[in-house]
Amino acid sequence: MRRLLVLGGGTAGTMAVSKLRRRLDRRDWQITVIDQDSVHLYQPGLLFIPFGGYQPADVVKPRRKLLPEGVDLVLGEIDRVDPAARVVLLADGQQLAYDYLVIATGTTPRPDQTPGMLGPLWRTSIFDFYTLDGATALASALQAFDRGRLVVQITDMPIKCPVAPLEFTFLAEAYFRRAGVRDRVEIVYVTPLPGAFTKPIASAELGSMLDERKIALESDFLTERIDGDAKALISYDEREIPFDLLVTVPLNMGADFIGRSGLGDELNYVPVDRHTLLSKAHDNIFAIGDASNIPTSKAGSVAHFAVDVFAGNFCQHVAGEPMTGSFDGHANCFIESGDGKGMLIDFNYDTEPLTGRYPVPVLGPFALLKERQANHWGKLAFRWMYWHVLLPGRPIPLPAHMSMAGKHPAGRAAHR
Ligand SMILES: Cc1cc2nc3c(=O)[nH]c(=O)nc-3n(C[C@H](O)[C@H](O)[C@H](O)COP(=O)(O)OP(=O)(O)OC[C@H]3O[C@@H](n4cnc5c(N)ncnc54)[C@H](O)[C@@H]3O)c2cc1C
Repeated sequence: MRRLLVLGGGTAGTMAVSKLRRRLDRRDWQITVIDQDSVHLYQPGLLFIPFGGYQPADVVKPRRKLLPEGVDLVLGEIDRVDPAARVVLLADGQQLAYDYLVIATGTTPRPDQTPGMLGPLWRTSIFDFYTLDGATALASALQAFDRGRLVVQITDMPIKCPVAPLEFTFLAEAYFRRAGVRDRVEIVYVTPLPGAFTKPIASAELGSMLDERKIALESDFLTERIDGDAKALISYDEREIPFDLLVTVPLNMGADFIGRSGLGDELNYVPVDRHTLLSKAHDNIFAIGDASNIPTSKAGSVAHFAVDVFAGNFCQHVAGEPMTGSFDGHANCFIESGDGKGMLIDFNYDTEPLTGRYPVPVLGPFALLKERQANHWGKLAFRWMYWHVLLPGRPIPLPAHMSMAGKHPAGRAAHR
């Protein structure tokens, strides 16, 4: 029996074992997933919890039920990998040996990495929405907030779903408007990037959407610490941004065991070949999803497109054949913009987000880089797709690679 161990049964790990269980003969391959949590969290749904759109029960399911038959689940915290001995050690003392390892432990918000963040203001005036606890606590805080300065801040890049803080900001603006308190609430968007987003064309578009909504943009702001007494963010270049309510996206990092095992970079992401996802250091280790260092967005859509390519490559690799699949960094992200509308962006390692239609040229139904109701409905429908199509690894008629059909280079896109 050959042993495949998959570390992390989140978005990427679940999709990968769903696909591989069908392809790898059960008489030859034992597949085991290790995860520390018995519950699978649908993270895109966290965005809607602070505004009462979803409740916590809408975004969780038991992890075991989402894994296919013939895949074992071990619940426990991974403490270390010993690549020389080909063994994974858990915090409770268990040891699991492997022939092939797939690291899919994602990335986690780390408020402990910014001095002052976890002080007395944490979850009283400082909230995050990247965790279920944080998003739930923020719902109560937003309900009580009817005047003052809301600051939405990204501590450093890369973060998972880099559009999520912008979406939160647009939704908050609409939320305060609906509550009739918008004129009493000042909103500031603070980012370490030179503009609203990482990609220049989308950044210009999203920047002007902030402008139209009278949301101030504070760019190139690298947060050094939080001054709890002054209730202010302090940057390395000594700028100070006061807040009444801070919604932060803390520094995101790969799992600590990756660093401890000598498998990661300075943020605990696993260096891999960006086209095959094979570790640069070990011929029997792959990293998929947010856990790797590939230069594209950390997003569920990326994990989905990449796993499509990875599954074929893995089967070739273990059969001693050359890997013929080449992942292109394809990402597509819905961006909620408030008032029942949203945008969609589609890009890869080499191509910026462009205007046009997706997935069918001319017909869509989704419009790229434009605010449309259809895009908002697409985002909401995605939850059903996630549980019932993507996680079970069912085929969908969307190519893993970015297609240029129906797209045109965008200048400033008209989004009205
Ligand atoms: C607020 C928010 C909104 C988002 N919106 C979107 C969106 O609209 N579209 C989109 O495409 N993406 C979105 N994302 C991003 C998307 O959810 C992630 O990119 C995706 O889940 C990554 O999958 P993954 O498998 O790499 O990691 P995860 O799904 O996070 O899974 C990692 C797993 O590893 C486990 N794990 C970690 N460390 C250990 C350890 N030491 N021991 C044992 N187990 C461990 C965890 O318990 C977890 O189950 C959003 C994310 C957030 C937070």
